[in-house]
Amino acid sequence: MHKDSVFRLHLGVGVFGGFMSAVRNIHVCRGDHRSSVDTKAAELGEALVPEQEQLPSEQYEDRYRASFDQAAVGILHTSLQGQILKCNQCFARIVGYPPHEIVGANFQTLTPPEDRDSGKAAALALLSGEAASASFEKRYIRKDGKLTWVLLTISIQRDSKGVPLFFLTMVQDIEARKLAEERLAAARRALQVSEARYRTAFQMSLDSVNLNRLRDGLYIECNRAFLELTGYTREEVVGRTSIDLKIWADVRDRQRMLDKLGEHGSCRDLEAQFRKKDGQVFWGLMSASVIELEGEPCVLSVTRDISDAKLAEKEIRYLAFYDSLTELPNRRYLMDHLAQAVAASRRNNSQAALLFIDLDNFKVVNDSLGHHVGDLLLKEVSRRLTACSRSVDFVARVGGDEFAVILEGLGKPSCEAASAAKCVADKILGSMRLPYRIAERDCATTVSIGITFFGQQNDDVSEILRQADLAMYQAKAASRDVVRFFAPELQAAANARGELEEELRLAIRKRQFLLWYQPQVNHGSVIGAEALLRWKHPTRGILAPAEFISLAEETGLIVPLGAHVLESACRQLANWSRSPNLSSISIAVNVSARQFRQVDFVERVLATLKETGADPCLLKLEITETMLVENLEETITIMKALKTHGIQFSLDDFGTGYSSLTYLKRLPLDQLKIDRSFVRDMVADPTSGAIAKAIVSLSQAMDVSLLAEGVETEEQRSFLDRLGCHSYQGYLFSPPVDPEMFRQWLPGNQP
Ligand code: C2E
Ligand code: CA
Ligand code: CA
Repeated sequence: MHKDSVFRLHLGVGVFGGFMSAVRNIHVCRGDHRSSVDTKAAELGEALVPEQEQLPSEQYEDRYRASFDQAAVGILHTSLQGQILKCNQCFARIVGYPPHEIVGANFQTLTPPEDRDSGKAAALALLSGEAASASFEKRYIRKDGKLTWVLLTISIQRDSKGVPLFFLTMVQDIEARKLAEERLAAARRALQVSEARYRTAFQMSLDSVNLNRLRDGLYIECNRAFLELTGYTREEVVGRTSIDLKIWADVRDRQRMLDKLGEHGSCRDLEAQFRKKDGQVFWGLMSASVIELEGEPCVLSVTRDISDAKLAEKEIRYLAFYDSLTELPNRRYLMDHLAQAVAASRRNNSQAALLFIDLDNFKVVNDSLGHHVGDLLLKEVSRRLTACSRSVDFVARVGGDEFAVILEGLGKPSCEAASAAKCVADKILGSMRLPYRIAERDCATTVSIGITFFGQQNDDVSEILRQADLAMYQAKAASRDVVRFFAPELQAAANARGELEEELRLAIRKRQFLLWYQPQVNHGSVIGAEALLRWKHPTRGILAPAEFISLAEETGLIVPLGAHVLESACRQLANWSRSPNLSSISIAVNVSARQFRQVDFVERVLATLKETGADPCLLKLEITETMLVENLEETITIMKALKTHGIQFSLDDFGTGYSSLTYLKRLPLDQLKIDRSFVRDMVADPTSGAIAKAIVSLSQAMDVSLLAEGVETEEQRSFLDRLGCHSYQGYLFSPPVDPEMFRQWLPGNQP
């Protein structure tokens, strides 16, 4: 029914559309709209309203009212001045006012100020008859203050003469549609922005980005970075697959990526190598995920070129795991590999061996020929070492002049495994013994090798290294240039050494040490004595230095021990100075390298002399050649400083060390002590005899005194005497004895 009425009303608009002349004279001025339109309309309106009552028959009137009120569209009658004459229920609902509250009000009161102009042009066009109807969208202010969108269709009702009566407005509530439209527009704007953003991100990304169809792998899109990185043009890429382009250096990586995508829908940080168009391979870090694009599952991949990082990583790895001088794996790598070898041996139930190799006289070469030659020697040693081992063996430089070789797959524990290892070790020994020609100089070195086996028990890596090291020390102690196997007995010895160290510390605190004195004789009279250390062990009796000196040196305990010796010897000197037949006897004190290298060694010696009141001229310090090569200049400075106070220096064990004239000449020495070994052998062995003879002439050339130690027989004494050496120390005269016995032993002091 109301449909019918709407139709008719629209028809009405058309019918009345032609009549317009009556309002032609209405003058509208935009600037003063209210005054002109409103006054004219007011005149008209007053005349028109009563005319409504003259409308058709009663029946028609009822139908009209019903359709007016029940219409699903808002209907509004407005006077030509804009006053609301009549409105239906629907309109009232749209604006939220009951009809009686708005009838009589100007429709502009329902219009937000900024929208008020929008209807004016339409109204004028209608009034002037230019348009039969006008349709536009606008907003109303509802009673609750909210704005609501409506679509207006306005026409003018005229009387039979065509005189405008009132505006008839159809008001459609389009708030919901507007809202949806606004949302859609906002969404579209956002989409545009984000699309633009994505497009930019896609294109501008420094990482290479590509999009492939999941089902066949075809490239759909790729960015600039992708093209730059791979060297292809976009045309060469799009429509083809990574397989077509042979992009994956290893296609198994592609499978790995696909597997991950299948499993998780994404794949993060896959490191793989890729091939460029020109065949060059580079490292890439790839992340990919499956996305849906217009209903089609695609793979979006982002790849970063990490070739530089890989190179740096390799470099760092190299620095961390290799020795830069010899280019062999370093200690860290050795430990790492050893751990793997242990696991592998256990798994395969097969023996493996660790060879610990130490150069026998590297220090001498390094100190006498210089570090440059030393470095070259180490390089040559590592070259020979590599040549002696199989390609599967692991050769490393542990540090300094220490090397290690891991031999794996030696089979079941057996004599064969041991002899296989021994075979390699012997080969190494033989190769190292060959002369070296380095920087146009000849040098020679040998190595000592310690071997231990692993893989059967639950071996600990550092324990294996310790065992090989221990065996190597055993080789050194034996004679150098040999191989020694680690044996459990060695372990026991090592444990005992640990205990001994503890005891030694305690002994120093408890002052369990004694000094014995061994006379030094010249032409039949006692001129001096060497102070020799003894440990009065609480359970083991008197211990000789051989039992503890090397341990004291290794642990650094030699420093406090040496201080104690020096102090005791000086007290002894002061004590003897009070006996006429002892007052001119000098005391020789052994000084170890560590003690000598203390920064305040000179001050310590002088302070001890002062404290004890000993005569510095009767104190002789025995130093060894090995101490000298370490730092010749420093040694000379220390010696000179002490010599200005009258302290003398004797070079102990002479002939066993490097014996280079070049530095001997520069040392402010007072005495050379011919080593026991020459004295022992010289009578029977012509070489030793010749050396002893040479030492005598050397001492004469250097203008230093000479003393032979370890003189046990009269034959030796007279032999030395004939050579020109007249000072002796040895069992022939007396072993080291305690001070009381020494006093008694002295000629003229016998009871
Ligand atoms: P050294 O300085 O060469 O001392 C001489 C060693 O030869 C002494 O052994 C002495 O007892 C021994 N000896 C003396 N005459 C003969 C002989 O006719 N035949 C034989 N076969 N041996 C003889 P000792 O007292 O056992 O000392 C051994 C080493 O211990 C010393 O060798 C020295 O290097 C070191 N030493 C001893 N006392 C001290 C000390 O107070 N400080 C330091 N740093 N080292 C010390
Ligand atoms: Ca000595
Ligand atoms: Ca000696």
